[in-house]
Amino acid sequence: MIAQYAVFGNPIAHSRSPQIHRLFATQEGANISYRRILADRQRNAFADAVRGFFASGAGGANITVPFKEYAFDLADEHSEQAQASGAVNTLIPLPNGGLRGDNTDGAGLVCDLQTHLQTSLRGKRLLLLGAGGAARGAVCALLDTGLAELVVANRSADKAQVLARRFGIAATGFHALPPNYFDVVVNATSAGLNGEVPDICPAVFGQCVLGYDMLYASDKTAFMRFAAASGATATADGLGMLVRQAAESYRLWRGFTPDADAVITALRRRPRKEGL
Ligand code: NDP
Repeated sequence: MIAQYAVFGNPIAHSRSPQIHRLFATQEGANISYRRILADRQRNAFADAVRGFFASGAGGANITVPFKEYAFDLADEHSEQAQASGAVNTLIPLPNGGLRGDNTDGAGLVCDLQTHLQTSLRGKRLLLLGAGGAARGAVCALLDTGLAELVVANRSADKAQVLARRFGIAATGFHALPPNYFDVVVNATSAGLNGEVPDICPAVFGQCVLGYDMLYASDKTAFMRFAAASGATATADGLGMLVRQAAESYRLWRGFTPDADAVITALRRRPRKEGL
């Protein structure tokens, strides 16, 4: 039987995960099925859909918005990354019929940042903008890199405080950020979905060597343009993070480590009409 995989989300039609995982499977020389599943937003209906998928012998699943916290509750055991973030983006079947929950988003981000920087994050001062699911999934992996400092800032400063307390890091609102201080600025807000940028002072980018937007698009995002115009030496979007987190999920399921760089190159060559 062909190994079955899927990504659960709502909405899900935009997901590039099937394309990415099929490219990984080609690299492995494996024949797999990977599909999108539009799950009902109700917790119980989501849980039934996932359990049914694994009861039919599935080899693994990815979980995306808005189900990562439900997937955390559904898992019988958790990786350290999943435990720390309280969210699961990868489910792996266990031999006893249970499910292991992992979160590969943070690993994908760290790997992509280091690829763009061409060096490790050790000793760097990193500003993380946003305090939603994407930011929460990133903090634990970022803290493992030996950063000199990690500061989280959010439009609603109280949400940044909650995140910061959870991980023992510093938090602030957008308007209290120091100028000329951060080496790397990561945008984990969803402002770019409306073509907006976080309302921060351009001088925040004064020492910035990389302005990184988790959002990805066929062209430079609004945040990348803002960072570059404000003095950031380089900018990047989040396509690499997306592919690298997928590669880590694939490795966890199949024990094969895909060549993420080759897939990123292929996707950039073949952008979808609606933006990558
Ligand atoms: P959430 O809805 O969980 O969080 C949204 C965050 O964005 C909140 O911190 C919110 O602040 C902030 N925000 C929204 N609008 C604005 C605005 N106009 N100005 C400033 N801040 C704003 O979203 P996620 O965390 O799941 O996703 C965030 C982004 O990351 C999305 O663009 C998503 O596409 C991207 N992403 C990319 C991934 C990848 O693999 N490349 C993986 C996961 C996410 P407040 O609390 O004040 O409302």
